[in-house]
Amino acid sequence: MFPPIFLRPLSNISRVGAHTESLLKKLGLVTQADLLMYFPLRYEDFRTMPNMTALPLNTPVTVRGTIESIGNKNSSRKRVAVTEALVRSNEDLLRAVWYNQPFLTKNLKVGEKISLSGKVIQNKFGVFMQSPQYEKVDSRQGLTHTGRIVPFYSLTEGLTQKQIRTLVRHILPLLRFLPEWLPQSIRFRNKLIPLSQALQWIHFPPTFPKLSQARLRLQFDEIFTIQLGVLQYQQFLTRNPAQPLHFHKEAIQRFVAVLPFRLTDDQKKAAWHILQDMQKTTPMHRLLQGDVGSGKTVVSAIAAYNCILSSARVAVMSPTEILARQTFATFQALLPQDVRIALLTGSEKHETASAQIIIGTHALIATQAQLDHLGLVIIDEQHRFGVGQRRMLHYKNNTKNGSQLLPHLLSMTATPIPRSLMLTLYGDLAVSQIHSKPVGRSLVTTQIVSASKRETMYTKIREELAAGKQAFIICPIIEENDALGVTAACTEYERVQKHIFPTYCVGLLHGKLKPKEKDAVMKHFRRNEIHILVATSVVEVGIDIPNAAVIVIEGAERFGLAQLHQLRGRVGRGDAASYCFLVTDAQRVPVRLQMLVRSHDGFALAEADLKLRGSGTMYGTQQSGFVPELKIATLSDLPLIETARAAARDILVEDATLTHYPLLAQKLSAWQENFHLE
Ligand code: ADP
Ligand code: MG
Repeated sequence: MFPPIFLRPLSNISRVGAHTESLLKKLGLVTQADLLMYFPLRYEDFRTMPNMTALPLNTPVTVRGTIESIGNKNSSRKRVAVTEALVRSNEDLLRAVWYNQPFLTKNLKVGEKISLSGKVIQNKFGVFMQSPQYEKVDSRQGLTHTGRIVPFYSLTEGLTQKQIRTLVRHILPLLRFLPEWLPQSIRFRNKLIPLSQALQWIHFPPTFPKLSQARLRLQFDEIFTIQLGVLQYQQFLTRNPAQPLHFHKEAIQRFVAVLPFRLTDDQKKAAWHILQDMQKTTPMHRLLQGDVGSGKTVVSAIAAYNCILSSARVAVMSPTEILARQTFATFQALLPQDVRIALLTGSEKHETASAQIIIGTHALIATQAQLDHLGLVIIDEQHRFGVGQRRMLHYKNNTKNGSQLLPHLLSMTATPIPRSLMLTLYGDLAVSQIHSKPVGRSLVTTQIVSASKRETMYTKIREELAAGKQAFIICPIIEENDALGVTAACTEYERVQKHIFPTYCVGLLHGKLKPKEKDAVMKHFRRNEIHILVATSVVEVGIDIPNAAVIVIEGAERFGLAQLHQLRGRVGRGDAASYCFLVTDAQRVPVRLQMLVRSHDGFALAEADLKLRGSGTMYGTQQSGFVPELKIATLSDLPLIETARAAARDILVEDATLTHYPLLAQKLSAWQENFHLE
């Protein structure tokens, strides 16, 4: 979107030395375009310039004058350097005071004209302006840091607001070389200002209404691009046929009849929808949404079985190796003996050429192995994958024999997705919900435990262990492969084994273990040879151990609501009573822990999390790219999403390939490239 001159490094600017360059880099700012797209966090309104004779107290104002005197003194009490200046305007004098900025006296000299913005206060030291923003008045330049609506940016240590503002000011003139990528018709219809204007005003808004116009334009850009991408993908899906897969009714009924449990009504309904969809010549694009433990796996197994009965193959992609293995084991147990199932992960590669069902991790996308004749692609816990990854598997089939047949696609998620997010991420997507839990499940009793009062909790856990049940102890981990988190888990493992449950077998699971080791631990836990599993949050998604009745979440205040709910879903999968202990040593117990105690409704909790923390952190999956990172728009802004969506649809109806809108096409492909880089 930005022409080459915008891509020059900031270090080309003479006042940016190597040190500043490295600080800017910390903020992700390398090119001039990066800085233009680095929007202020907030603004302060310093436009009021009252006469010095009548300065109001405690309100942001700006005064201009000449420096009459300036000097440093040490405040006796606190050992802070205090800089004091007297500023004259006509007959009036105003005192300005700064703390810990002794270098100011080198900068500001007697006789210079300056502009000061801040609040005038009155205390026992008199009436003075406290720590004002200041700048020398330079008639050529106009004001940057005072006397206007002043932007404030998010900083890193060593950088100042002044530096950022000055740099932005410096590159703003470039904007006249910035082409408009949005077609005029769309701009006019949606009352959007030009892009260069918006970028100018977002940094230095002349008025607040103009700031709103700038925000609206930039928000629209973000959402519009996403919508273009999503709609174009949908068009691709409807233009390319899929292999219709016959609904093998009798065979499926027989399959369901021998399952070890009765399907719930929601499971039946979901399976029915899926089987109906797969009969069509347009590819299915369905999301199966059901709270943790609601039994999505068996529904996907039914779909897979129906697919192979039509001699087409199935690929199942799981977010982690453990889950891939679990799905592999479940499918093997559920499906008839003669179905050929292969596992394909980073560490284990079964021969796939003759397999009817191939279950794996991301390795499925990376593999050179043949994934041809796919009739169905199933993506489990799909919020762990980015758009690009999901699509890649979808395209993968497209190679052999010049066949353009697309596989049907079934995505599954335990995390409810609010409608605004759904539209943004998928456009219109068919959704099946599993609301009801299998019968006999009771709610997981949830309690907040303060760190110093663990003993009662351990007593309860001993009771459960004595009754033959198992327990999870989860240690917080900040990111995948987080070394500190792993150490904490190891320490906790030793403590618990030695001092708390010496007569039971404690196991340890974390991301640094080799896949084989993880596998062995899981196997022992599944067989109840390990009674207590200490784990980092790798067990977050999907693990199914029906005999586990207790989960302890250490450092619970460090997890998000949706994530806590996921973790809690690891227990309460059998029909026995089960317990979730949220251990925290936070001074004030966060609201979200209390919400978790009260609510067991995954949907309500996800909505609350979206409000509390925003979409990025909600899924604990910023890195996955599931939710596009937005600079200025919010994914809960349904009206904007709908407007942008309509605009995107109009353009694509007129010109599906965007041939007449090269800049638009360019912007879209830049965005898509970003998504594919995950
Ligand atoms: P999720 O939706 O979280 O992926 P799973 O598919 O792993 O849940 O199912 C959780 C557990 O519930 C499994 O042990 C599964 O065998 C069991 N289950 C699934 N459906 C039913 C049912 N209709 N009745 C009883 N148990 C069921
Ligand atoms: Mg699952």
